[in-house]
Amino acid sequence: MTDPTRPAGRPARDRLVERGALWLGLYLVLVTLPLFALLPGVRRPGGGFAWDFSMALGYAGLAMLGVQFVLTARFRRPTAPFGIDIVYYFHRYLAVAAVALVVAHYAILRFGNPAALGPADPAEAPRHMTAGRAAVLLFVALTLASLLRQRLRFEYDLWRATHAFGAALAFGLAFWHLLGSGHYLDSVWKRAVWIGYGLCWLLTIGYVRLVRPLRLLRSPWRVTEVRPERGRVWTLVLEPAERTPPLRFAPGQFAWLSLGSSPFAMREHPFSVASSAERPGRIELSIKELGDFTSTIGGVEPGAIAYVDAPYGTFGIDRQPAAEGYVFVAGGIGIAPLLSMLRTMADRGDGRPCTLFYGNRVLERVAFREELEALALRLDLRVVHVLLEPPPGWTGEAGFIDREVLDRHLPPARDRHQYYLCGPTPMTRSVEQSLAALGIPAAQVHSEIFDWV
Ligand SMILES: Cc1cc2nc3c(=O)[nH]c(=O)nc-3n(C[C@H](O)[C@H](O)[C@H](O)COP(=O)(O)OP(=O)(O)OC[C@H]3O[C@@H](n4cnc5c(N)ncnc54)[C@H](O)[C@@H]3O)c2cc1C
Repeated sequence: MTDPTRPAGRPARDRLVERGALWLGLYLVLVTLPLFALLPGVRRPGGGFAWDFSMALGYAGLAMLGVQFVLTARFRRPTAPFGIDIVYYFHRYLAVAAVALVVAHYAILRFGNPAALGPADPAEAPRHMTAGRAAVLLFVALTLASLLRQRLRFEYDLWRATHAFGAALAFGLAFWHLLGSGHYLDSVWKRAVWIGYGLCWLLTIGYVRLVRPLRLLRSPWRVTEVRPERGRVWTLVLEPAERTPPLRFAPGQFAWLSLGSSPFAMREHPFSVASSAERPGRIELSIKELGDFTSTIGGVEPGAIAYVDAPYGTFGIDRQPAAEGYVFVAGGIGIAPLLSMLRTMADRGDGRPCTLFYGNRVLERVAFREELEALALRLDLRVVHVLLEPPPGWTGEAGFIDREVLDRHLPPARDRHQYYLCGPTPMTRSVEQSLAALGIPAAQVHSEIFDWV
């Protein structure tokens, strides 16, 4: 059992910052090293500054794009200091920057030195030049499809498969172009550096698409119960099948779940583990019916096989264990990771004061209402329900969880508490602003976002 009052405080945070700085440094080295490798030794004369600059942009863009495979590979150690959501945002913004460099590489030559590009007609152009053009187009198409996915109503699983396959293809085409044109790659060892890099990125894809699914295939879980909750929420209870080890996780972390398909199928969805971290042999995921996949949960039969890739995420009380108390703010199904924290605290006999603000539309749809009442008897917990459409005679809070509601119910030592927020993004952002206005330091406010992809 973890000692909940163990003062980890600054040293643990400092170590985390150090590790974060180390991984960022490694990222910079990985991106810049292949560029510096091009500089020493004899180089073929280029075509002036614009030409050289264009080549540098092309190489820089490709080096950044290659590292994207590592960023999205969900390696636990590098993502731990930042949180996987931040790493995904990093991936998104850097991918846009990298594709902009690749486009600039092409555009500078196209408008400044078109002769260097040769004929555009694929029938006449050298194949590696056509591969380069195709790579630029594909990178741009993939970027636009990702940025506009929700507006284009591009179904998530299809988008994800297209994105993964398209990115690997675009990268392969770009590499063909690079080796074919060979600028700055005159010596064997320079080629070796770039081919080595390409192979590393290929190995990362192989790990993500083959090795990890194979591991999941060997450690299946079984659905033992499918429980309806209020508010169109289903709780899936999962237990490890024969040789699968229990899942050691921290309260607030999440799992990627595949149900009814092989782990190779790339159909996995992230869900917070809602059960207690002190009971790793039986996990619960509470899932709200929202779309294609989540609407099928109610029909899952007990006995079905599930694959659980976990744990991920940095949201949770174990990251800030020295707090005097906790304030939780949930909107709808955002209660899931917070429930895990409360259940874990109850199992640990943690008596520190907690306040839960729980926003829902109507009372009948407040999931886990009765369990929260029971938890309030085991913990020093106060639950403040906030209803958008309260029933007649309701004497509790109504409307949104705004600054006034928070101010009325926050505990006396509010600035010595840690805050955990999870719910719809507009709610989370607005509560963050209200807490800031109430003088709560940003470092004490932690949010989990469900729609970062
Ligand atoms: C860290 C994290 C924890 C989460 N925890 C919970 C939880 O405990 N309970 C819960 O009900 N929901 C949770 N979610 C949200 C849940 O993952 C989505 O609601 C679900 O994947 C939607 O799938 P769908 O096909 O039913 O809906 P759709 O209507 O197809 O998709 C709705 C949106 O959900 C997102 N989404 C869809 N499929 C995926 C996928 N495979 N991977 C990632 N995102 C996807 C996309 O942004 C999409 O636009 C969590 C999300 C994240 C990121």
